[in-house]
Amino acid sequence: MDKIVREIRVRAHAKINLYLDVVGKREDGYHDLETILHSIELHDDVIIRKQATKGITVRCEHPAVPRDSRNLAYRAAHLLSDTVGNIGGIRIDIHKRIPVAAGLAGGSANAAAVLHGVNELFGLGFTQETLMQFGAQLGADVPFCLHGGAALGLGIGDRLTRVPVLSDVPLLLLNPGIEISTATVFKKLNFSLTTREKRSIIIKTCLGKSDVVGIGKNLYNRLEVPVFSQYPEIAALKTELSTQTGVCGALMSGSGATVFAVMHNGDTACRNESHFKNRVSFCTTTVTSPVGVSVY
Ligand code: ATP
Repeated sequence: MDKIVREIRVRAHAKINLYLDVVGKREDGYHDLETILHSIELHDDVIIRKQATKGITVRCEHPAVPRDSRNLAYRAAHLLSDTVGNIGGIRIDIHKRIPVAAGLAGGSANAAAVLHGVNELFGLGFTQETLMQFGAQLGADVPFCLHGGAALGLGIGDRLTRVPVLSDVPLLLLNPGIEISTATVFKKLNFSLTTREKRSIIIKTCLGKSDVVGIGKNLYNRLEVPVFSQYPEIAALKTELSTQTGVCGALMSGSGATVFAVMHNGDTACRNESHFKNRVSFCTTTVTSPVGVSVY
């Protein structure tokens, strides 16, 4: 007899942007992006269970994470259960490791894990493509978190094309503990003064050759300008990180405030982790990941 599966455990991986340019302003107020995203090993654990009580329950001990319908994981479960009719109670436990509002898509990763996990646990049978369409209704980064690995993102970052994945490239992540609202950053962006960078092609070529040094040299994020003008301490942190031994290049991820370094090797990543550890609110070494969600 088949065992009745009552829970599924999903790793929800964070992402970094190796490249992010803003290429246009849309009529709906959003901006069109050209971005290269890469999943990283740093992840939250998302445990999804069938529960006897009706409705959706979210548990998370992180004080900055809402547990009601503002939580992206809640909204992902609600969207699926609304689409297929009542599938019964769903309980979601989130163990946070990804810093919140840090440009690492933690909330989007949790939503992607729930879309994937609920689909599996309840045997809903949605294809990956359909799940990504659901994801786009929840947030621009959710489709990428489902896609995982590495991708070029156009539109609001949700029109994805696969690009070559970096295998186990060491990274160092620093977060100064400033929570940044993505919407505010885009409001501050002086789009009329910008010219296109077009370094995405170089990054794509470097990805194809696993040229980590080339990637490090060509990292780019247009959003650094508005963020660094408001928070010079983030700019200073990036400058200091860039000049450490073993760093191929450093960049702010997404709308910040996390800055990351692409490292030559794991040893120098660990040495730099010790250097920064007591000075920032979050500091970790990690590596690039080939997946965005994985069942464990
Ligand atoms: P964004 O670009 O959307 O700001 P981010 O990667 O910078 O994303 P997230 O960690 O996703 O940051 O958090 C953004 C906001 O989303 C937080 O202020 C938080 O209150 C809210 N949020 C909703 N659901 C979650 C979740 N499951 N995990 C973390 N934050 C969540």
